[in-house]
Amino acid sequence: MSAFGSVFMPEMAISWFDGSSWSESQVVPSESLHLHAGAHVLHYSSTCFEGLKAFRHADGSIKIFRMDRNIDRIAQSSQLLALPEINKDQVAEMIKSVVAKFAAEVPEAPGSMYIRPTHIGTEPAIGKAAAPTLSSCFYVLLSPVGDYFSGGDRALRLLIDDKNMRCPPHMGMVKSGGNYAGALQPTMKARAEFQADQVLFCPNGDVQETGAANFLLIDGDEIITKALDSTFLHGVTRDSILTIARDMGMKVSERQLSIEELLERSAKPGCEAALSGTAAVLTSVGTLIHNGQEFTVGNGAIGETTVKLRRALNDIQWGRSEDKFGWLIDV
Ligand SMILES: *Cc1c(COP(=O)(O)O)cnc(C)c1O
Repeated sequence: MSAFGSVFMPEMAISWFDGSSWSESQVVPSESLHLHAGAHVLHYSSTCFEGLKAFRHADGSIKIFRMDRNIDRIAQSSQLLALPEINKDQVAEMIKSVVAKFAAEVPEAPGSMYIRPTHIGTEPAIGKAAAPTLSSCFYVLLSPVGDYFSGGDRALRLLIDDKNMRCPPHMGMVKSGGNYAGALQPTMKARAEFQADQVLFCPNGDVQETGAANFLLIDGDEIITKALDSTFLHGVTRDSILTIARDMGMKVSERQLSIEELLERSAKPGCEAALSGTAAVLTSVGTLIHNGQEFTVGNGAIGETTVKLRRALNDIQWGRSEDKFGWLIDV
């Protein structure tokens, strides 16, 4: 099986903004994109993206999960990066039509079609370090993905970093390229020094998120996770898991969580921690590393409640249980 996100459909949907209007969307080869070498995105990182999935149901139909949320988020990211305003209806149409075109290639469960809408500033203007791009390009790439856990589902090791930030606080809710490049060195260092899978960024002791996933602490029938603010990415998976948990009768506490409270609660048997995101859905965290010391979360293994919540979400996505929250969209 190829690495996640390394296989692409040969064509993508695309539209260009010329400074006043969006071109009619087209489906073009995805192997190349023609840009001026001075394009704004290549110098000043005027770029944002999304990640969502389409699922094949047993009856052969294809459903896209919570697309409206991802479109709202990329509209917001575009606005916060001073990129041209997107046309949400056109974007919805682009996503649906390109998924429909490659419907036959949507893998069976436990695989899915990962959808990557992307918005970039295209104006050739290297003098615009402090000014927005006038023109831009929006495209929707598709990448069929297999079972994320095929390599064996194991509990992750996270390094708690209470010094660095993942990105500047006002950029946290923007899904933008530069944020990821900036988190790479701390993450690589954590891998080399502590065999950590990810860094859990906790600036000033406030438990935030990892490089590309939200963090949830599950203590008995209570889920504790940071309340929404501008400093971190508002995950659609986070929202979906919290909605399912509330529906199951669990208590959901969206509030500040300190490193001290996290480590204290984690030590209790039966406590669980997890990362949430579209790619991995919900993945158990078994070990936290802080100041060179290792702390086991609960029994250090994959959490029962984590698995139960992940399965409940997957069952909705693959049509194995009722879509009671109205999250599936027909293509
Ligand atoms: C994409 C992303 C998430 C998860 O968001 P989902 O909508 O659940 O996929 C969390 N944190 C960061 C930094 C992300 O980029």
